[in-house]
Amino acid sequence: MTSLGLYIHIPFCRSRCIYCDFYSTTLPETWQMRYVEALRREMEMVQSRAMRLSADGLSTLYIGGGTPSLLSPHALRLLFEFVERNFTLQPQAEVTIEANPDDVTAEWVSRLRDTPVNRISMGVQSLDDDILRTLRRRHTAGQARQAVGLLHRAGYTNLSMDLIYGLPGQTRAQFGADVREVLSMGVPHLSAYALQFEEGTPLAEMKRQGTVDEADEELSLSCYLQLLDLTQEAGLEHYEISNFARPGFHSRHNSSYWTGAPYLGLGAGAHSYDGERTRSFNCADVRAYVEAINQGRLPSEAEVLSEKERYDERVMLSLRTSQGLSLTAIGRDFGPAMRRHCECMAQPHLHAGRLQKKPDETLCLTRQGLFVSDDIISDLMA
Ligand code: SF4
Repeated sequence: MTSLGLYIHIPFCRSRCIYCDFYSTTLPETWQMRYVEALRREMEMVQSRAMRLSADGLSTLYIGGGTPSLLSPHALRLLFEFVERNFTLQPQAEVTIEANPDDVTAEWVSRLRDTPVNRISMGVQSLDDDILRTLRRRHTAGQARQAVGLLHRAGYTNLSMDLIYGLPGQTRAQFGADVREVLSMGVPHLSAYALQFEEGTPLAEMKRQGTVDEADEELSLSCYLQLLDLTQEAGLEHYEISNFARPGFHSRHNSSYWTGAPYLGLGAGAHSYDGERTRSFNCADVRAYVEAINQGRLPSEAEVLSEKERYDERVMLSLRTSQGLSLTAIGRDFGPAMRRHCECMAQPHLHAGRLQKKPDETLCLTRQGLFVSDDIISDLMA
């Protein structure tokens, strides 16, 4: 079956976390129905494009945000009704919804049963209440634990949690305790990211004012090493630099981004890719998005990737995954000269043990290479 992912962005948050630079807004709940209605129209506008990309329907559907678990019961029900009216979900489709732990109540879980959702991804970030308060997350560690219990009891086993390391006030031991606890809860998928001080966020401003410090590189590295050890001991596969999963629980939707498969993104700030060379971006503003859709036009801009951009993207995305970068595919898709360039630039890293070449002609990061992946990727780019 052909692979096609559909991403729907729900850009509403009750409050803004201090480190976040995703597009989301704290507009009141009255905006939800206007937005979901605009999504319906956008679905109708892109339906034929979806058919051209995959006659087999959607292999994955991902409702991300923002905070999709904030949607009112009515808005959530309509959203899935519109999806099912406009697209076909393949029989084994992976259907993910992102949730904030404090939204995962018994009532919310029971509503979920009326939807095709079979995977829940929770932004937990930490299981330390002091750190959660500092980040201005609105949930507590207890609510995250409770959410997992509720979902398990309702039969949802395909769960994912996000954690962050390098947080203000966090120690290596505390991050290790978070990872151990997530693993002991029986959550089969874990994503863990180093805290970024993104320009324009309150966190970056706090750093400028000297009220928080960035974790030193040694601490971040030591947290990451610990993460690799703990997840490996627990039998999780390290299938992308920041992603770990028990066998059979890889995120199929996110994997499609890394393998260059086509996807459609709906909603304010969402991106689409045709799987070849065209990307498009919806405007990241709920009001402007709804207004444009109501006027019958897609509020998106497209860009056609150059050969160099496509090659660089292939290097960057493939090397982040455990499948690695296929030299055969580079030669086939970009020509023998690019394959030679790639092999030549890889040589110093192969000699130093930061890259390994597998018998099937793929280049993969070694454990040593994981720590300097950005440098290696940049060296191999065109
Ligand atoms: S809930 Fe998620 S999307 Fe919303 S502000 Fe926090 S990190 Fe950003």
